[in-house]
Amino acid sequence: MTPCPDCAALRDAPTSTSPHANLLLHSDVAINFSATATGRVEYYLCHRCGAQWERTRARSEPDATWRSSSKPLD
Ligand SMILES: [Zn+2]
Repeated sequence: MTPCPDCAALRDAPTSTSPHANLLLHSDVAINFSATATGRVEYYLCHRCGAQWERTRARSEPDATWRSSSKPLD
């Protein structure tokens, strides 16, 4: 599967980068990194090329990047 140009541009982008127009939030889950550090993982699905992405939103993960996801989405 070839990612669309918008998805190709997202690879290794910082999570501060907004999802592109065809990338829609599918679900998100709370995560606990430690007793004091928490955040969320958001799962996205591209409605143009079908690529799945995840990004970690957490204060303790300032250097997180967009990552392709293989999590089965309902
Ligand atoms: Zn795409």
